[in-house]
Amino acid sequence: MNNKHNTFGFSTRAIHHGYDPQDHHGALVPPIYLSATFAFPTAEYGAACFAGEASGHFYTRISNPTLALLESRMATLENGEAAVAFSSGMGAIAATFWTLLRPGDEIIVSQTLYGCTFALLHHGIGEFGIQVRHVDLTDLAALEAALSPATRMIYCETPANPNLRLIDIAAVAKLAHRQPNITLVVDNTYCTPYLQRPLELGADVVVHSATKYLSGHGDITAGIAVSSHALAQRIRLQGLKDLTGAVMSPQDASLLMRGLKTLALRMDRHCSSAQAVAEALQAHPAVQWVTYPGLRSFPQYALAKRQMKLPGGMIAFELKGGIEMGRRFMNALRLFTRAVSLGDAESLAQHPASMTHSTYTPEERAQHGISEGLVRLSVGLEDIADLLADVHQALAKCSRPCMRPAATAAHVLR
Ligand SMILES: *Cc1c(COP(=O)(O)O)cnc(C)c1O
Repeated sequence: MNNKHNTFGFSTRAIHHGYDPQDHHGALVPPIYLSATFAFPTAEYGAACFAGEASGHFYTRISNPTLALLESRMATLENGEAAVAFSSGMGAIAATFWTLLRPGDEIIVSQTLYGCTFALLHHGIGEFGIQVRHVDLTDLAALEAALSPATRMIYCETPANPNLRLIDIAAVAKLAHRQPNITLVVDNTYCTPYLQRPLELGADVVVHSATKYLSGHGDITAGIAVSSHALAQRIRLQGLKDLTGAVMSPQDASLLMRGLKTLALRMDRHCSSAQAVAEALQAHPAVQWVTYPGLRSFPQYALAKRQMKLPGGMIAFELKGGIEMGRRFMNALRLFTRAVSLGDAESLAQHPASMTHSTYTPEERAQHGISEGLVRLSVGLEDIADLLADVHQALAKCSRPCMRPAATAAHVLR
């Protein structure tokens, strides 16, 4: 792989890393290798490939030149040694769990997780003899107390989907690595490596739903795991090849590389617009609370400043009047689209309790810090004036009950 771009800045590497057009008939854009299988010059070479003694592509579920280019770009952007591409974020997460955990092992996970990750833990690996323990990882004493000789993995999202709770990655890594054989895995979907690089803070594996900001255009599902060479090789040969088979298609890898070219530009815009929307929400009387890492009122504002380059494009908030008012707000939106997923050019609004986090029971949501009235916004790339106008007109429709006391007073007077 051509790594002459290694010393360049983030966007330069996102655009050029690992590719020289002169190796490909001058093609500016990397070609898509659609081939499922690859020809062996001799039977002996084929056998050597399978024995791991010769490098070379031989079957796309294991490796493919287009996937390899994407993987080298994701590795350099996360500042890891190697990456493995998957057909979805859940593919990457499942392959990482199945590769690194065995019956009798314990996994410590943070309190709040994406709904399907929660389901994979409790209805997947948790039913195969792996002990799943939720620990408030913002409480380092609680983590220390929870660690046991059987602990093999610590897993977290930061910021967490959907409540934006942060975990201090460096502090957790320090505790985790006091014990050998513990792998710290961080889901970096909300931040992307442009805003936060967990491996630099001591994490061992970074996983992504590349369906979100990394691809950025809502037209693929994709996942990535980034780590050391040795761990990536295990995740590839067990988790990907044998245990899940969740391989990314080469066409999707090409679309994902197209998305990466504008990642920094898009993230800057997502963040500045989300800041403005969060401030507008905070200033509005119909809003009960708003959580956004760029607000001074954010409980972990100092950690956000330290750990993230910018506060991200996601907002969680609740209206006075809870989810009934939240539904009224969502139904009143004209520009924001009512849809799950995040990180797209289009601004999206959804209700985690009935949508992305309906894999939790109501009791579990309460226990894991996901309020029933929480509305989640993914602030897109539209003009900020149009986004603010949409939020304001929708909020205006949510202020009516606040006027009820006046109406009652009038009624009494009559
Ligand atoms: C969406 C999401 C996932 C799952 O990714 P898919 O690409 O939908 O499989 C995992 N983690 C987080 C934080 C997500 O938002």
